[in-house]
Amino acid sequence: MWMLVPVAFALKLLSIFLQPLGSVWSSLGPLFLQLRAASWLAGGERSRLLQSRREAGEPSRAEGEGGGDLPTTPTSVNYHFTRQCNYKCGFCFHTAKTSFVLPLEEAKRGLLMLKEAGMEKINFSGGEPFLQDRGEYLGRLVKFCKQELQLPSVSIVSNGSLIRESWFQKYGEYLDILAISCDSFDEQVNVLIGRGQGKKNHVENLQKLRTWCKEYRVAFKINSVINRFNVDEDMKEQINALNPVRWKVFQCLIIEGENSGEDALREAERFVISDEEFEAFLDRHKDVSCLVPESNQKMRDSYLILDEYMRFLNCRNGRKDPSKSILDVGVEEAIKFSGFDEKMFLKRGGKYVWSKADLKLDW
Ligand code: SF4
Repeated sequence: MWMLVPVAFALKLLSIFLQPLGSVWSSLGPLFLQLRAASWLAGGERSRLLQSRREAGEPSRAEGEGGGDLPTTPTSVNYHFTRQCNYKCGFCFHTAKTSFVLPLEEAKRGLLMLKEAGMEKINFSGGEPFLQDRGEYLGRLVKFCKQELQLPSVSIVSNGSLIRESWFQKYGEYLDILAISCDSFDEQVNVLIGRGQGKKNHVENLQKLRTWCKEYRVAFKINSVINRFNVDEDMKEQINALNPVRWKVFQCLIIEGENSGEDALREAERFVISDEEFEAFLDRHKDVSCLVPESNQKMRDSYLILDEYMRFLNCRNGRKDPSKSILDVGVEEAIKFSGFDEKMFLKRGGKYVWSKADLKLDW
């Protein structure tokens, strides 16, 4: 389209100069109208192209087209509203550096801003999200996001130790996915990692939660961090028996200031495994159909992480550098500092069937 415009313009000019002067103005008028229409069409084509890219799940940045970038859409957001936790996992990469939690109404205001900026999925995480107000704070946010914001997907990542059946009775209908962290089916390994909780058995608890998820129609997911203590384990049988919708398998990740370095509350170095060891674990479990692997490289830039102040955390430099809070500067301004790699987000399958209405589960 653009190639044709200069040629048409030159031919038209030539024909104008061959005409008597009186008819020049009558020829120029339609010509300018044609040029305006052509440029409007080109602009329209570009925005339609970007729109169709978004609908096809491609990045919103108009790279390689010589145009400016569209703001990044916060399609899927992980809100770590608390850093407090009742476990002490040695590799934890979101540690209890503060005890701050936003007032509920402020958190709701931020969630509404994210929805207006294009959020489709919210994941509540921590710390341990069920710790605050015995799960009431979390329940109210879950209900708000599903009932009032009508988000297609509302999910939680939890260590599972504090969830009671009464929570499912009250809030289960508003929750799409519950992900429970489980790194081992050997209780001794869980204790070594720091997921032990006195007399409570982490594995038995997991089975109880699986039953409640089925009963209250919540999709059940398992997250495992592969580290020095569980890298040789074979979990096929137990994972198949629990039958989660997804089994997310992460490679233990070092984050400066969280689980490594002078100011950190953890020293994760002794948990770290090599890429080859991670690959060997994945290979041993390749027949588990719900397995979703996540290497360090995929993890680092492909999550939009909001901390307890609703600041985006940029992990590009191996640390978590905060933006300003969306509550102070708005989503569009704060997200510029998120370090989020939308391409990597799509490449790692970040956009999947995430609403329980669409999962068509055989509960
Ligand atoms: S359960 Fe999660 S938040 Fe709590 S210490 Fe372990 S990794 Fe950290």
